[in-house]
Parts: sequence; structure tokens; C-alpha cells
Amino acid sequence: MQKKVKALVLLSGGLDSILAVKLLLEQGAEVEAVNFRTNFCGPSKALLASKMLGVKLREVNIRQDFLPVLKNPKHGYGTALNPCIDCHALMLKKAGEIMRAEGFDLVATGEVFGQRPMSQHKQALDIVEKDASLKGYLLRPLSAKLLEPTIAEQEGLIDRNKLLAISGRSRKEQMALAKEYGIKEYPSPAGGCALTQKDFAGRLKELMANKPDFSPEDIDLVPIGRHKWGNGAQIILGRNQEENNILENAAKTGDILIFPDGFVGPTALVRGEEAEIARAQELILDFSPKAKDLKAEEIKFKIIKKA
Ligand code: SF4
Repeated sequence: MQKKVKALVLLSGGLDSILAVKLLLEQGAEVEAVNFRTNFCGPSKALLASKMLGVKLREVNIRQDFLPVLKNPKHGYGTALNPCIDCHALMLKKAGEIMRAEGFDLVATGEVFGQRPMSQHKQALDIVEKDASLKGYLLRPLSAKLLEPTIAEQEGLIDRNKLLAISGRSRKEQMALAKEYGIKEYPSPAGGCALTQKDFAGRLKELMANKPDFSPEDIDLVPIGRHKWGNGAQIILGRNQEENNILENAAKTGDILIFPDGFVGPTALVRGEEAEIARAQELILDFSPKAKDLKAEEIKFKIIKKA
């Protein structure tokens, strides 16, 4: 009996990666899905998709490994702060390590030849394959017939005739295939990754410029509150109760939390310099709706330094 091919598929939860899994399952492959966790895309779509497909999903945290890619991408950024080629290469490299360590025959993705101008043209597909050391082991089932056969195809573990030759930006073929497979619900292709969003990218650039040794936890706070930088400190002020609570929970050793005491106003998180407490208090007053009505003796703050 022929050996069952064991495929590790990168599953974002979008339609293309769902179809890549389907095409492999149809061939009788043993499929496991992997989703890489960064600061910028959550695993919720992949979780839903893996349930719908009935395949095991493993989540791998690459938040720390992503930092050098974000700071200095070898192949540059896309339209915002999205280093797509380097990001793909990193994820595929990690998938390749799992493949080799755990006896998978190949890594597969839902990439479509020519679909994304920056990251899925022929040269980019070749670059990520090479950077990830996956030459011959990276199968793109949706476009496989337009690409060189992988080792699994050459060895007959995968039937190339049952793979597809989709290319370009139109999604008609994928949608027709989804209908054929009875897949009714899948997320729209746009908007999954925060790095492609201009507003988020602008705020992240500010962090990168002011704190070059930033951590994944610093990135978690990028979309939260108003950020003020200066004198070696970062001050973040909540814009509503939910953000105030997030800041309170995010404070770590050495951070200072400042709360208005007896009047309504934002919580401030001061990271970096105790000397900036006075400035943070001024900012709290700037953003307090009734600060101008307060008497001097009514302006009080509660200050907590996280141990
Ligand atoms: S859109 Fe975001 S997650 Fe997708 S490849 Fe680009 S950087 Fe990576």
C-alpha cells in the first residue's frame, strides 16, 4: 500500500488556505494545519476554519521572532508597514523546521500565483521558498500546475493532475470551488493583518522611532489610548474605561500608573522616566472633561509604581 502523504498546511483561515487543505484532503493526504501567531493577526479565523475542515490546528507563537523582520525586512515593506515577503519566509521557515522534526513530507500554503502584486509574483514565491530552505518541499496546491513539481509530486505521493493552475487577482475560480465543496462561510480576503492598516502602521512607526528595542508587549499597546513621547518616557492615556482597564492590566514592573483621584479623567501609564509624572498629570487634566471647573485642592492623583 502506498504511504499516505503527510502535509503541514499554513492555515490563515482565508478561503485560499481552506481550499489548499481541501485539495490535499481530497487526495487522501494526512493534513495538519499550523497558524503562526504574531502581534498582527489573531488565530480566530484559523480556529473556525480548522473546525469546519476537521483538521488538527497547532498554533505557534512567533511574536518575538517577528521583531527583526518588522524592524529590518530584507525585502522591504508593502503599502503600509507589512513586510510580506519576509513574513512569509519566516512562517515557512518555521513550518519547515516542524516538517523536518516531525516527519511531514511537505509544507503547503494557499498562495496563488500572481494574486498579490508584492508577495505572490513568481520571483517572490521563489525567494520565500529559498529563504525558508524549502526548495522542493513547498506545495501551492491552487497554482501548482504553473510551478515546478515538488518532490512529493515527482515521487507520486501527490497527484499533480488533481492540483490546480489558478493565477491572478480574480477570485472567481476560488469562489466556484468553494461552492463545489459546499463552503458557504469564509472571511473576505482584505483586512486581516494590522500591519496593512495605515492608522496602525503610523502608530507603530512612532513606537519604532522612539523605542528601538520595543517588545511584543509594547506592540500590544500600540492601538490603545493616546501616546505621548519625550524625555525618554512613554505616556499612554486611556480614551475610555475599557482602555483605562487595559492600561492598568498591562502595567509591568517599573511602570507607573496614575489615576485621577476624585474627578473623572483618563488613567495614565508612564513607562520609562519617573520625572515625567508631572507631565502625565498635566495630560490627565488636559483630557478630563471637567478639569477647568476643579478647585486647586480638588486636583489629586493616585500614583502606583508597579513592583
Ligand atoms: S499581510 Fe501581514 S500577515 Fe500577511 S504576509 Fe503580509 S505582513 Fe504577513
